[in-house]
Amino acid sequence: MIKTNLIWFRNDLRIRDNFALYSACKDETSIILALFIFTPEQWKFKKISSKKICLIYKNVISLRKELIKLNIVLHCYTSTTFLKSINYLIKFCKLNQVNHLYYNYEYDFISQKRDNIVIKKLQNCSIFSSGFHGSTLIKPGSITNQKGEMYKKYSCFKKKCIMLLPKELLNHVFIAPKKRKITTNKLHYRILSRSFSLKRFDEKLFPIGERKVLKILKYFLKKKFGNYDVNRNNLTLNSTSMLSAHLSIGIISPSQCLHFLFKSYPNVCKYSIEKCSWINELIWREFFKHSLFFFPFFSKQQVLCHWEHNIRWKNDMKTLNAWKKGKTGFPIVDAGMRQLNKLGWMHNRLRMITSSFLVKNLLINWKQGEKYFILQLIDGDLALNNGGWQWIASIGSDSVPYFRMFNPILQSKKFDKQGKFIKKYVPELKIISASKIHDPNLWNKTIREQINYPKPIINLVNSKKETLRIFKLAKYKI
Ligand code: FAD
Repeated sequence: MIKTNLIWFRNDLRIRDNFALYSACKDETSIILALFIFTPEQWKFKKISSKKICLIYKNVISLRKELIKLNIVLHCYTSTTFLKSINYLIKFCKLNQVNHLYYNYEYDFISQKRDNIVIKKLQNCSIFSSGFHGSTLIKPGSITNQKGEMYKKYSCFKKKCIMLLPKELLNHVFIAPKKRKITTNKLHYRILSRSFSLKRFDEKLFPIGERKVLKILKYFLKKKFGNYDVNRNNLTLNSTSMLSAHLSIGIISPSQCLHFLFKSYPNVCKYSIEKCSWINELIWREFFKHSLFFFPFFSKQQVLCHWEHNIRWKNDMKTLNAWKKGKTGFPIVDAGMRQLNKLGWMHNRLRMITSSFLVKNLLINWKQGEKYFILQLIDGDLALNNGGWQWIASIGSDSVPYFRMFNPILQSKKFDKQGKFIKKYVPELKIISASKIHDPNLWNKTIREQINYPKPIINLVNSKKETLRIFKLAKYKI
């Protein structure tokens, strides 16, 4: 009997290195159906940014074109919530006599709940389902301490991850699956009707489609990787890969990143995986993804740290709004926030500076910052965003110590020496010299009168003292 397999695309919008797709296609005689369900109401609830929704939409269209070349038709449907999407999926399976559902896992609380319901409902209809780990380098849950728990220390996690990596990559197939002999268009071709609005983003920075994204990776490896270690924190050099948005919706996988890296630089794989800064960043990604797998309630802003609820936040709305708009009076913080508001993307160094400023200088609850970031980011990723904010707020499992704060003036001098980045995003400050631009306290009355720019909303020294007192009190109750 000819079997019908359904591949349900979600956060894995690619045809290469896609376990679920390969497994569905293994049997050359089976009929392959493909489905993507847009869930705009659910995305709103999850605070997914409208730029990211637009990125998903455009990439689904591109994926559909790629799949047609393999004689696979991607059916697209717009539902509202996850719950409604479950009903549609089950109906779709019954209508098309699907025998087996294939999908790659997602790890946040709501997605896990949705998948559990789907699997149970399919079981009741005698339909098999198989899930795969397609968005991480190593299967979450397999890097643990002796008690089978998630490592609290990043360094231990990294060590074990590196041990497993080379062997793990051998399980992957980095080419597209074979073209099917016949088009599997059992259902009528569904024209994608869109009932949600899209917000434009810069397609030069975030090109659409798997092929273009693979080109970005190869360009990065050829031109930027060699100096990544030295240049990655320089805010004016554009020296990072710019792959985060594509990784976040699975246009590319982290395993593809390492596969092409090791192909271009075999010695990195042989001798220096642990010293390579770019691999280190990918392993931080892995650490946060695995953490979410173990603790899905992180996606509901819950934490493991027992003293977090003791912190007496100030939560002043006026300063929070100034931070959001990039009007704090601290040039590097404002430049970072304006980059975020404009592009939907912010350099990692700036994410650390701006988040530290919110939590440790303004004493605003990190949850406010986490929420604002995810609402703006085109690369918004629950695991990484939550991990980044918990790290900066010193309440995560291997976080920066509570007394460590990023001084925005020193950071600015170090990573934007000439103030070029600041001037790009805060053009009001164009007339200020490189030696003075970082520190607003150096601007005299004459300068102030020439610029339309707010005065600093806090005193850095006082706010540091206050934060140390409040965090110490929360942690040690002294
Ligand atoms: P590269 O420097 O080229 O790094 C390659 C890849 O490694 C990135 O694409 C990303 O997947 C991963 N990576 C890099 N830095 C980190 C890091 N510090 N932690 C975990 N993984 C990392 N990244 C997101 O993709 N989505 C988010 O929502 C997100 N929120 C963040 C919030 C805060 C407060 C902080 C401090 C960091 C956050 N990051 C997030 C991590 C990081 O800032 C971005 O991944 C990075 O800036 C993306 O640029 P790139 O692709 O050029 O990175």
